[in-house]
Amino acid sequence: MIPRLMPSSASIRKIQTRLLAWYHKEKRDLPWRRTSDPYHILVSEVMLQQTQVATVIPYYEKWIQSFPTVGSLAKAPETKVLKHWEGLGYYSRARNLHKTAKEIHQHLDGRVPESREEILKLPGIGKYTAGAILSIAFNQDAGVLDGNVKRVLSRLFRLKENGASPTSEKILWELADKMPPSGQAGDFNQAIMELGALVCLPKNPLCEKCPLNKICEGREEAHLFPPPKVKVATKKIEVSAAVILKNGKTYIQQRLHKGLMGGLWEFPGGKLEKNELPEQALVREIQEELGVQIEVGEKILTIKHSYTKFRVTLHVFLCRLPKGRIQATSCEQWKWVTIQDLKAYPFPAANVKILEYLRTILQ
Ligand code: SF4
Repeated sequence: MIPRLMPSSASIRKIQTRLLAWYHKEKRDLPWRRTSDPYHILVSEVMLQQTQVATVIPYYEKWIQSFPTVGSLAKAPETKVLKHWEGLGYYSRARNLHKTAKEIHQHLDGRVPESREEILKLPGIGKYTAGAILSIAFNQDAGVLDGNVKRVLSRLFRLKENGASPTSEKILWELADKMPPSGQAGDFNQAIMELGALVCLPKNPLCEKCPLNKICEGREEAHLFPPPKVKVATKKIEVSAAVILKNGKTYIQQRLHKGLMGGLWEFPGGKLEKNELPEQALVREIQEELGVQIEVGEKILTIKHSYTKFRVTLHVFLCRLPKGRIQATSCEQWKWVTIQDLKAYPFPAANVKILEYLRTILQ
């Protein structure tokens, strides 16, 4: 399918020349721009999915220090890998990166594959990451399409597509693949993403500083592009969690590998049912999942945390286990650990605040 507004070759050439000249002068010095190691570029691209550059930098640097090669990541235990990802969100990215490293280490001679077909077979690698690795690490002619690129293309050509439907996404991809000049796709792709991140901003684009302002069709009405997507209301959920203390230790459990935030550790608890109080939900959940009756004590925290698709209010209580043997059925494994040792385990972002609280008590 050909986009209705497919630009002419002359117009694309002008964009390429101006954008590349601007990029070579203005690009930020980012740690993954100082390497040509395909594995390092793969790590940075996976981390950058849905996460800001400034947030990614310290995670990337620590990751490369701890897992400098595909082999070192492949051999690392999952808890260590997830711990390095703690706070970055979308934990399936970390698990998939770990699986990808194992696949490359065990079956691909330790090398990131150079063909689109092979890269797309790796766990968690979609069209965007494949295009980024092929162009940036191997300088192959491939486009990229992320939120920044969509916004820039949409404004440059006054596109009505916003990527909300498969057809609209397909049209944008065809355009994105057409944009990079042969032999310079790596730089061009980084340039267009950089323009979206620094100049063609979502709310107030800095058109007067933009190298494309003389040829941008949407400049005067940039706020209309890309057309807004229909917003889905964010779901709100209430959850109770128990900090069960016994002999100076607290109970934690590892979430099932399959499912949301799989493999992370957490304090036990669960969702409130209709008309249920947080304390009642806690007693019921612990009975169902651990097979014991707890005594709910003081409420120590109310944590509000936003995930991509829902907002959580977490009610946290100190609890006691007067008697009974724990028989946890809904987790990978469980442990009693000292508060000092909690830092070795990766927790979801909402639970991290409980750890901070417990450390404060300890001090
Ligand atoms: Fe974006 Fe303005 Fe540049 Fe057009 S001129 S690409 S709207 S920053």
